[in-house]
Amino acid sequence: MSDFLDALRERLGEAGLLVGGDLAAYENDWRKRYAGKALAVARPASTEEVAAVLRLCHDHRVAVVPQGGNTGLVGGSTPDDSGRQLVLSLARMKRLRGIDVANASMTVEAGCVLAEVQAAAAQAGLLFPLSLAAEGSCTLGGNLATNAGGTQVLRYGNARELCLGLEVVTASGEVWHGLSGLRKDNTGYDLRDLFIGSEGTLGVITAATMKLYPPPKDRLTALAACASLDDAVALLGLARERAGDALTGFEVMNRASLALVARELPQLAQPLAGAEWTVLLELSDAESAEHARGVFEGLLEAGLERGNVQDAAIAQNIQQAKAFWHVRESIPLAQAQAGLNIKHDISLPVSAIPGFVAETDAALALYLPGIEVIDFGHLGDGNLHYNVQAPVGVDPASFLSTHEAAINERVYDAVQQRGGSISAEHGIGRLKRDELAARKDPTALALMRAIKRALDPLDLLNPGRLV
Ligand code: FAD
Ligand code: ZN
Repeated sequence: MSDFLDALRERLGEAGLLVGGDLAAYENDWRKRYAGKALAVARPASTEEVAAVLRLCHDHRVAVVPQGGNTGLVGGSTPDDSGRQLVLSLARMKRLRGIDVANASMTVEAGCVLAEVQAAAAQAGLLFPLSLAAEGSCTLGGNLATNAGGTQVLRYGNARELCLGLEVVTASGEVWHGLSGLRKDNTGYDLRDLFIGSEGTLGVITAATMKLYPPPKDRLTALAACASLDDAVALLGLARERAGDALTGFEVMNRASLALVARELPQLAQPLAGAEWTVLLELSDAESAEHARGVFEGLLEAGLERGNVQDAAIAQNIQQAKAFWHVRESIPLAQAQAGLNIKHDISLPVSAIPGFVAETDAALALYLPGIEVIDFGHLGDGNLHYNVQAPVGVDPASFLSTHEAAINERVYDAVQQRGGSISAEHGIGRLKRDELAARKDPTALALMRAIKRALDPLDLLNPGRLV
């Protein structure tokens, strides 16, 4: 191993290689669920350096764990505890390679933090719509590797829909130059779509060309209190009918999730506290501020008249809109503060969601009285974060070890019965690998494994994750 590390140091320089010392930030995941031990951390600063690292790993048979902002929630971005896996951090690859305004696209290196990508687009007078609570630290490479979703999927799609081209380093250290910027390209298998969502198991993304959009003239945010999820689904239908494409966000939060935020983050104001379900709606209007407000008011009034909405509040200014979003986006943090919980990032047809929640809530309450379901997410996309927290007074770690398998079985069986997915946007990683193997269509799994063998025959790229 010392030959390997010497060769790496020679190629990357002192700034490009961390060995020994405190590597905890690279070895532990955001949720603190997986504690690992890295052989070392390579921090290449260019595509050529990434390629050199992968060639050395290939020659020395060293496993590589690609890492961006390390905000992933499924244990995919940190090493196992063997001390033999190399963390390949993209954090130094942050260059904005260019913005093509006429083509409405930008090319950015993989280690660029999402908020910086958004800011660079805004500076050019355009919108990069991908948006999620971790945007201050997650990277574009990580977003693509996990096909991240977030809060603007309803209108703009997830990371996959926003990507035009990729630059990727393969397991043997070759570079695929696929940064085309083309919106049409039918020249065979779509390699771009193969690498998106592959969670670092097929190649290392070093740069991407992404779509940009005209920024909306105005953005309005509102909260609506609903008595039931059926009402929230009815409100979604109404919002689609009235606002069409201008509807950019439709999030729900159950009472328990907002009560948790009130407990853990009491400094955050909650305008409609106490509702059974709170919906956060966002409208991004291409016409004018007055038009947006008119549509919004009409929509909420119709909701009140039909009895789908009990109460509503439209943000009066940007500060207030940010405060509404901040409460929604603080739920994961409040959960992290409260201790480990059993996370389920699921998707279902929107029509099936009220039935799923009613039935699964009841089944879990029967299984373990006092159990708390922190249920929130992107209702407009049919995606819920259906997280299960230990009853008050029960130690979270022992709750997980005793009940995780039984609770997962109940939740995922109910998801599968309704044609849903066990991972909507967070990916598989280590957390759901066995669940995927047990539940995915066998033909699909066999095809996935064949692709993995073809692209990474030595199983060096993020081994033990995904497949
Ligand atoms: P990492 O965590 O570093 O890595 C994630 C995976 O991608 C790993 O498997 C890693 O090996 C691989 N990877 C990373 N970079 C590369 C690369 N350049 N090439 C190849 N593989 C790579 N996700 C959503 O989809 N929607 C949300 O709304 C959302 N909200 C979140 C809120 C919070 C508070 C947090 C902590 C996370 C949230 N996430 C959400 C999880 C989401 O997966 C990540 O935030 C983000 O997409 C991962 O980016 P990252 O740079 O941190 O990747
Ligand atoms: Zn989410």
